[in-house]
Amino acid sequence: RPRVLSGIQPTADSFHLGNYLGAVRNWVAMQETHDTFYCVVDLHAITMGHDPALLRQRTRLSAAQLLAAGLDPERCTLFVQSHVPEHPQLSWVMSCITGFGEASRMTQFKDKSAKQGTDRASVGLFTYPILQAADILLYQADAVPVGEDQRQHLELTRDLAQRFNTLFGKTFTVPSAFIVRDTAKITDLQEPTAKMSKSASSPAGIIELLEDPARSAKKIRSAVTDTGREIIFDPAAKPGVSNLLTIYSALTGRPIDDLVGAYDGKGYGDLKKDLAEVVVEFVRPVQERTRAYLDDPAQLDKLLAIGAEKARAVAVETLRAAYDKVGFLAPA
Ligand code: ATP
Ligand code: MG
Repeated sequence: RPRVLSGIQPTADSFHLGNYLGAVRNWVAMQETHDTFYCVVDLHAITMGHDPALLRQRTRLSAAQLLAAGLDPERCTLFVQSHVPEHPQLSWVMSCITGFGEASRMTQFKDKSAKQGTDRASVGLFTYPILQAADILLYQADAVPVGEDQRQHLELTRDLAQRFNTLFGKTFTVPSAFIVRDTAKITDLQEPTAKMSKSASSPAGIIELLEDPARSAKKIRSAVTDTGREIIFDPAAKPGVSNLLTIYSALTGRPIDDLVGAYDGKGYGDLKKDLAEVVVEFVRPVQERTRAYLDDPAQLDKLLAIGAEKARAVAVETLRAAYDKVGFLAPA
């Protein structure tokens, strides 16, 4: 079975629909066909400033949501990044073969640092894609299921793997991106040209899996739509309506063309009202299952400890091989 690795940041209390449709949903499906490693990337979650108690809570919340979405600890390796110290260890090595200019071209850093003010942005935010490369390469992943927003980081990971292999001898599998067409990018409901983001979207722009469903419904009904009144799928000319159609189609399995046909002659209000119902139906059971996992934190922590042990068995081997290739003297 090909191996996959993917991660999600515990940067909010709740995942959003973009996380689910662009990433987590595929994680669940890939358990059937791949050897799967999934990681709550808490090391990445401290790059923009954070609250320690909240981080701890959100790490559990993230794991609970992943289990509620359908990850099965019997069939995948689910773990917390900081439980496997080989991640930052390999990251250091990879950072020493990354060009400063190369790292400077990462658009996520530009976007996120612009929001914070470039002077205040941390070095950790800058080197984040290198840690992400280490996350992936440690497990010799063949593929990485992520949303469109991670494409550039994955290119960097591939470049670094190839570079290391050329410099020091074949060590890492060069992973390919597994980006699901159609739902690869869900956009902000209030700013439909920007991606829906845990840390960057305004509350009204984001549908949180764990928020009160009535609130989600209201947000959909007040989503920014485009000029004109026709319901057509055209992300360039009509980003707002197209985003709603994308979500609708992804949650119901109805092809976008069918939806466009069904709403012919109807208005934006009809589309929003129906989509609001679809979203409410979808989140209810997810919320119930998440609550059940959170009710037993000791059991949740135990599942994560088992996951960390499985992950570490692989990570230790890869790090040892990489250290050896680089020329670090093995401790006697
Ligand atoms: P943050 O704002 O803290 O970076 P995020 O919303 O971007 O949070 P991440 O934890 O960085 O979420 O990403 C988790 C996964 O969700 C990644 O695979 C990413 O590609 C995917 N993802 C994030 N936002 C979207 C989106 N709007 N549409 C589709 N996929 C997304
Ligand atoms: Mg992100």
